[in-house]
Amino acid sequence: MNVAVFSSKRYDEEHLSRCDSGTLSFTFLEPHLNQTTAALAAGHDAVCCFVNDTLDEPTLAQLADLGIRMIAMRCAGFNNVDLECAERLNILVARVPEYSPHAVAEHAVALILDLNRNIHRAFNRVREHDYSLNGLLGFDLYQKTVGVVGTGKIGATFARIMQGFGCQVLAYDPYPNPAVQALNIEYVPLERLWAESDVISLHCPLMPETHHLINSRSIAQMKRGVMLVNTSRGALIQTQSVITALKSGHIGYLGLDVYEEEADLFFEDYSNTVLQDDVFARLLTFPNVIITGHQAFFTREALDAIARTTVQNLLGFKHQEMEKVHCVRR
Ligand code: NAD
Repeated sequence: MNVAVFSSKRYDEEHLSRCDSGTLSFTFLEPHLNQTTAALAAGHDAVCCFVNDTLDEPTLAQLADLGIRMIAMRCAGFNNVDLECAERLNILVARVPEYSPHAVAEHAVALILDLNRNIHRAFNRVREHDYSLNGLLGFDLYQKTVGVVGTGKIGATFARIMQGFGCQVLAYDPYPNPAVQALNIEYVPLERLWAESDVISLHCPLMPETHHLINSRSIAQMKRGVMLVNTSRGALIQTQSVITALKSGHIGYLGLDVYEEEADLFFEDYSNTVLQDDVFARLLTFPNVIITGHQAFFTREALDAIARTTVQNLLGFKHQEMEKVHCVRR
């Protein structure tokens, strides 16, 4: 079975090749998959895609014409796939529902600790032989209230870690997780979570219902000086509203691993290029904002698990052992 791996990096090549015993034939392609690049899938049976590939109707139609029968997402999220169209074209979509919830949850915690204790600023100061502490004042996480939006695998792991800091954790999820309830974590309506949390961390999927969940209305309900962390998907946040709230001090800290317009930026080296995205450029000017380029998943353990499940999905489809395939259904 021939698989075209789009948006591939050297680490994808290493991990996928290591997991397959030679039954799959991978072609590693650097470009993102979209309408313009879909033709590169010619001669393959399946495509393997990542978070910033565009699997919209025109792209899927081209893939179907080329005889592609399966899309193996090497990530958990599938908001970039038109599932209805894929189903209509008889293209199976599979994903990696779980690889390492610890990788993403721990990264969210890293953002919180960095923001709170100004590690990013301290790092630069010390390198300049500036050991003054002005402006580096943090706060104890102990006994602070942390709101977790979405308590699936990652949110639940994050909630458990924050309980370990002695935080009071509040949760919101339309489908409460019994494992989280067993930790005596209270599920509350979103309005209460906004109003009572000192730190808010987003761990829900991007769907029409959660698109721009963080907007001027929800921010207005939050505590002044709140810390907001998003390691989920960029479009959960309406960035311009967050910038306004950062300027007024309503949002006191912002930690992002994802950004609504990240597809044109992340995973590439643009250090010799003039940044064209003025909204992103504004975010970079705040001392109380830190941004990482969608790296929360990026641990050895997670990459191993992603490659293993992706190969299992592809082989399951190849041998029509569908019980082994983690299909995405509408
Ligand atoms: P999951 O499916 O296990 O959990 C998602 C949870 O969100 C579920 O409990 C679901 O009930 C809940 N949810 C659904 N609708 C909601 C709503 N309207 N409001 C609040 N919660 C809602 O997924 P997961 O593995 O925990 O991953 C969570 C998200 O993290 C993914 O959707 C993905 O976007 C993101 N992610 C990011 C990275 C990264 O590298 N930054 C890596 C993996 C996943």
